[in-house]
Amino acid sequence: VDRRAHGGGHDWCVAALVVLHVPEPLQFFLRPGRRLRDVRVDWDGQSSLGHVVESVGVPLTEVEALLVDGVSVSPAYRPRDGDVAIVVERRRPQALPTASPRFVLDVHLGALARRLRLLGLDTAYGNDATDDSLVARALGEDRMLLTQDRGLLRRRALRENGLRAAYVRGSQPDEQLFDVIDRFDPPLAPFSRCPACNGSLEVVAKADVLDRLESGTRRCYDDFRQCHDCSGVYWRGAHSKRLDEIVVGATGRSGVRR
Ligand SMILES: [Zn+2]
Repeated sequence: VDRRAHGGGHDWCVAALVVLHVPEPLQFFLRPGRRLRDVRVDWDGQSSLGHVVESVGVPLTEVEALLVDGVSVSPAYRPRDGDVAIVVERRRPQALPTASPRFVLDVHLGALARRLRLLGLDTAYGNDATDDSLVARALGEDRMLLTQDRGLLRRRALRENGLRAAYVRGSQPDEQLFDVIDRFDPPLAPFSRCPACNGSLEVVAKADVLDRLESGTRRCYDDFRQCHDCSGVYWRGAHSKRLDEIVVGATGRSGVRR
C-alpha cells in the first residue's frame, strides 16, 4: 500500500510505517506501553532499520539478525513503507572475541566483577572508569564490554567494531552472573583470580599467611591462595557453594567445587 497516496496535504514527508516483530526475551527493552510482540513504528523515511530498532529501545548488541521478507538484512538497511522486520534475539552461547575471554564492566557492575573474577574470568573494572575509557578498553584489549547502560551500547565505535558489548540482564549480582555465564558459556577457572584486583592467585602455605588470618579462619581452613599483584589472601568460604549453584544453573556443569 502506498500510504503517500493518502497523505493529503502532507505530501512528500509523510511518515511511513514499519512493523517490528520483537520476540518475548527482548520485549523488556520496549517502553511499558509498547510491550507487544508487534511494534508499529512511524518511520521518517531516512533512518536505517538498525536505528529504528534502537529507537524502540532494543540495543543492536542484543540482536542476532534482522529479517525482512525472510531475508537477513544489515542494520544499515533502509526500510520500505510497510516493511515487517523480524528481530532475532542474540544466539546463546555467543562467541567472544578471544579464546580466553576478557571482560570490561561499567562502574555499576562492581559486585558482578568480583564474582566473574572469583570464577577465574579476566575482568577489568574500576569504579571511576569513564564511558570513553570503557569503550577504549573493550576495543584496545579485545574485551567484551558488559553494561546495563543502553546509551553506552549505542556508541558508534562499538557498532563499527563488531558490537563488542552486551547488555547484562538482572538487577541482582547473582542474576547478572547467571546471565553472563548463560550467554557466553566461558571456560571457568574458579579460585584462580583475585576478586579485588583481577591479579592471579597462587597457592600459598598456610604457615606463610598465618599471621594474617583471624582465629576462626585459621581453625576452619587449610588451603589458601595469595594474589600475585595485591598480596590479598583468599580461602574457599561460604560464597563458593553459592557461586557453584549459579554455575550449575547456567551451564549444567560444576564450576567451583572440584
Ligand atoms: Zn589482588
